[in-house]
Amino acid sequence: KKKILEVRDLKKHFPLGKGKLAEGKPCVKAVDGVSFDLYEGETLGLVGESGCGKSTLGRTILRLHEPTSGEVIFEGEDILHKNRKEMRKLREKMQFIFQDPYSSLNPRMNVFNILSEPLIAHGIYKRGPELEEYIKNLMEKCGLPSYYCYRYPHQFSGGQRQRIGIARSLALSPKFIICDEPVSALDVSIQSQIINLMKDLQEENNISYIFISHDLSVVKHISDRVGVMYLGSMVELADKDEIYANPQHPYTKALMSAIPIPDPKKKTQMHAIEGEIPSNVNTPSGCKFHPRCPFAKDICKTKEPEAREIKPGHMVKCHFGGEF
Ligand code: SF4
Ligand code: MG
Repeated sequence: KKKILEVRDLKKHFPLGKGKLAEGKPCVKAVDGVSFDLYEGETLGLVGESGCGKSTLGRTILRLHEPTSGEVIFEGEDILHKNRKEMRKLREKMQFIFQDPYSSLNPRMNVFNILSEPLIAHGIYKRGPELEEYIKNLMEKCGLPSYYCYRYPHQFSGGQRQRIGIARSLALSPKFIICDEPVSALDVSIQSQIINLMKDLQEENNISYIFISHDLSVVKHISDRVGVMYLGSMVELADKDEIYANPQHPYTKALMSAIPIPDPKKKTQMHAIEGEIPSNVNTPSGCKFHPRCPFAKDICKTKEPEAREIKPGHMVKCHFGGEF
């Protein structure tokens, strides 16, 4: 499979208090050295507790946040060295779907204008019958009747608004979309409709997704591979079936065992992960997970584990990954 995106040692640190980042000044290490590849047409799920940096990672990849350091290579080009104009051109191919479709849609614009805005701004269409046909077609593809095109966002249900958000992200025919909790605000009954729509559109258009969610069952449904984030680091990454069947990082194991088992005959097990989530201001020394890890040894307190491939395609950032 063809690589579409390479992320190398990407960091996003925010200064604490006033002023810029500086040596020795306290900062929040929201993304702290993340590396992975994304392939054409695949979905990479990103999971982790809130505050683990998954949303910041998504935004930093698209330069909605300016990265502190690292590389983001999209179709062979390092996007961190692009100027504004070049970035604008690249944005046609890289889109974002937000959690809350309502707040991301301009309430004063009707759907037709919401969807045509990027096409006109990027000079792909001018106003006229061709644009009209394109928009109506796009709406139908996303399960929105095209005769709704002169309605405003408040006249739609939550699920329909997310369809509008998806249609808008697809308007420019992107190759790659970062989806940040795209179904978390929706009723469970609507969630699967939206996910199935996203899957269909992906197949039709060969789009790659990074799908950010705290919901492991949603991620399991949509992803080809899954990456687990903890305090700004990616601690495990593997094919979906592998990571759900054979988690090798103690944090992943803890997350997985907290999945409620839907079988009513079995007792639902909820293993809370021990300990508070430490803040990523004063991150623990050594392995960042050591204060909460039931398997921690002395080395874990002093030495940060490296990301290791324990079998092809299965990366673990733990001194004992592969032994569990
Ligand atoms: Fe636990 Fe040590 Fe592995 Fe960190 S490196 S996850 S503390 S066993
Ligand atoms: Mg988030």
